[in-house]
Amino acid sequence: MKVPFLDLQLQHQAIRTEVLAALADTYDHTRFCLGQDVEQFEQAFSATLGYPGTLGMNSGTSPLHLGSLCGGFGPGDEVITTPFTFASSCWGISYTGATPVFVDIDPDTWCISPAAIAAAITPRTKGLVVVHLFGQPARMDEIMAVARAHRLFVVEDCAQAVGATYRGVPVGLVGDCGTFSFYPTKNLGGCGEGGAFVSRHPAVLDRARLLRVHGSPRRYLHTEVGFNFRMDGFQGAVLNIKLRQLAGWTARRRAIAAQYRAGLTRSDVQLPAAPPTAESVWHQFTLLHPQRDALRSHLQQHGIGTDIIYPGPMHLQPCYAALGYAAGSLPVAEQTSRHCLSLPIFPELTDAQVAHVITAINSF
Ligand SMILES: *Cc1c(COP(=O)(O)O)cnc(C)c1O
Repeated sequence: MKVPFLDLQLQHQAIRTEVLAALADTYDHTRFCLGQDVEQFEQAFSATLGYPGTLGMNSGTSPLHLGSLCGGFGPGDEVITTPFTFASSCWGISYTGATPVFVDIDPDTWCISPAAIAAAITPRTKGLVVVHLFGQPARMDEIMAVARAHRLFVVEDCAQAVGATYRGVPVGLVGDCGTFSFYPTKNLGGCGEGGAFVSRHPAVLDRARLLRVHGSPRRYLHTEVGFNFRMDGFQGAVLNIKLRQLAGWTARRRAIAAQYRAGLTRSDVQLPAAPPTAESVWHQFTLLHPQRDALRSHLQQHGIGTDIIYPGPMHLQPCYAALGYAAGSLPVAEQTSRHCLSLPIFPELTDAQVAHVITAINSF
């Protein structure tokens, strides 16, 4: 039996007719940049997931940039973040000229450690970029307590966590703003690039709306040096259709995760934590194993695709060499990078395929 790590074609075949008809409409009405398709998507995203407002953007990296600007980050400021994430989580900090300060992760959720944040605060600390990794919300109670005590601006990178909640609150509304990516492989993916920005503060949402389109409150008036971070009408049209399926897809991801959790019983496998305070949307199902590479080839021999997410923590990437982190300085993140293996988890996987993965791991 073959079990691909991810198969996007299955999902897209199922909605092909509907999506192509919507794209044809957009082609005909010609509002290609923002426009009614994006407005409809923003309204539906807010209503479905519980946001007071949503700003559609051209990627998941752009809202991270705006989050750092809304936090007032700039040269001389320190912004604490996690090294165990996709690179662009830290780009927003660097784009503003602020310094990313990498701290270690929680050994069980693999998100940023609240105790490590508290230990890294200095008089220059201005904010936090928290990543809800693999769909699992970080420990926001403890993180927000530190943030409030030190008046820090909290950006939540929700690129992998669309639909996840923390104590019933949608991610992105716990901190000061939240950012999403609709890159095709995300839980809600477009046919190309896309992203979104949310905030519980009306003033933050307004500032991000202004910066999204050339710092321009109305045509040919520019009150700030802005950006072009508009979402394409075609992406809005696709995402509108896909958003209707998201709850069903998330439910299926949760069922697959439950099947993995029940079946994977080896004592040498560390499963992802699922604390009762948060509801993960299982963007990835990742486990840790001390012989990760051997386990990976064993699964490959059984026709099972896997991935290593992420093999190199950000504090040791060449782009941040000037920050001077030594190997061994953030031991939990580094060990997690060496031992992590992500298993297939996408809504179209069958129970039999998941059972095949479980059997193969248990026979390793
Ligand atoms: C995908 C992703 C992003 C960036 O999104 P793009 O749409 O590729 O710009 C940022 N952070 C995390 C954690 C991601 O997984």
